[in-house]
Amino acid sequence: MSATKAVAHPAPGSRPQVLVLGGGFAGIGAARKLRKDEVDVVIVDGHDYHTFQPLLYQVATDLLPPVTVGHPLRDLFDDQPNARVHTTKVTSVDLEKRRAEFAEMGPLNYDYLVLALGAQVNFFGVKGASEHAFPMYTLADAVRLKEHILERWEAADKDPDLIEDGALNVVVVGGGPTGVESAGAIAELYRAIFVKDYPDIPQEKVQIVLAEGGPEIFTMFKTHLRKYAEKALAGRDVEVACGEVVESVTATRVTLKSGRVIPAHTLVWGAGLQANPIAASLGLKLEKGNRIPTQPDLSVAGHPEVFAVGDIAWIIDTKTGNVLPQLGSVALESGHHAGQNIARRVDGSKTEAFKYFDKGTMAIIGRGAAVMQGPHGRTMRGKPAWLAWGAVHLALLSTGEDRAKAVIDWSWAGFTHERADRITVRADAQ
Ligand SMILES: Cc1cc2nc3c(=O)[nH]c(=O)nc-3n(C[C@H](O)[C@H](O)[C@H](O)COP(=O)(O)OP(=O)(O)OC[C@H]3O[C@@H](n4cnc5c(N)ncnc54)[C@H](O)[C@@H]3O)c2cc1C
Repeated sequence: MSATKAVAHPAPGSRPQVLVLGGGFAGIGAARKLRKDEVDVVIVDGHDYHTFQPLLYQVATDLLPPVTVGHPLRDLFDDQPNARVHTTKVTSVDLEKRRAEFAEMGPLNYDYLVLALGAQVNFFGVKGASEHAFPMYTLADAVRLKEHILERWEAADKDPDLIEDGALNVVVVGGGPTGVESAGAIAELYRAIFVKDYPDIPQEKVQIVLAEGGPEIFTMFKTHLRKYAEKALAGRDVEVACGEVVESVTATRVTLKSGRVIPAHTLVWGAGLQANPIAASLGLKLEKGNRIPTQPDLSVAGHPEVFAVGDIAWIIDTKTGNVLPQLGSVALESGHHAGQNIARRVDGSKTEAFKYFDKGTMAIIGRGAAVMQGPHGRTMRGKPAWLAWGAVHLALLSTGEDRAKAVIDWSWAGFTHERADRITVRADAQ
């Protein structure tokens, strides 16, 4: 635990009530910034933990245990006397009445609201995807994929006919960072670990296909970084299939619009996001992906007491005029800024415009293989980019203890190639 000494929590009184919906990077960022202010902060999340999404692949591929990637939400606030945490689902928000409703708790009124409910997967109506695809957005998604992969390999070990049926083949959809990082992580698990775990299963019969509808993967990166990523994936025996759009999926087959049918029992969905459905219920005019457009100070038009931050928000970069991407660093920084602007309002001062400090765009393809493009066009690839990724993402972890845990796990895995978390524990088993 981060605090050993119990902190007295004064009962909520007549101070302004700040309701923070969502305990991701954005919600935590906002709530923590208000720790010294004369307000009562209530954080509500459907989970009792904060999820560090950039490490979900590592959970899905047995590199890290779920506890490294999920941190108890209450632990993050037990040293903040003006904060309370509740674990329940937000069911509706009435912006006119300044009130939110929840699945298992009475409604709460607010003076200030931070909308930080993130995004969710968008299957774009692909037939069978919601039933059979494996998205990668929550900790539960990562654990589900991990257990499915382990179960399929164990099944094929007992019944080799399953290999021909595609039990071990994986199709990953989407050539952006989520798709590329997932494909790279699964390939390393297969080619470096399972090759030893299952010596009788011929690896050459196991396919990993990355399907991207556009002509190239990693379109946000410069050409030489794209080429590097393609080469790194090819070196891990991942087939990059550009111009291929998934038409439908069943439990055992992936059908592409080109007519190609891939026998695969696993389809990982890394192709698209849409804002949390609460956004569409607010009666606001929304932007692409149902994201909530913000004013320069991150408040919502017509509602100066409401702030939208992180993945749910459509935030225009004041420097470039472009919309900011759905990234952890944008979420944390925008959350901080919303918290500061609420404190300014409470003090009777003017709010300030949000200025994003861009640390660059980066993605990992595998161990020692990554790409990075800095805000001024500087690029890196390979080990230096991999280390830069580690440094930037360590800073996003919520506590010093989490950072230490991650460094130990990464270093151990880096030196040993070991993936100790490849076991399945069933609570209902003997
Ligand atoms: C697989 C993956 C890899 C990524 N890799 C990187 C990376 O390398 N670098 C990077 O910068 N970014 C990365 N990102 C993006 C980054 O993680 C997100 O941009 C960031 O988490 C958004 O933060 P947020 O607080 O807006 O939303 P979230 O982190 O999604 O938090 C939203 C919170 O709201 C809660 N919630 C949602 N709906 C409800 C409800 N109805 N009731 C109650 N609670 C609810 C959720 O439980 C969640 O805790 C990655 C994302 C994914 C999915």
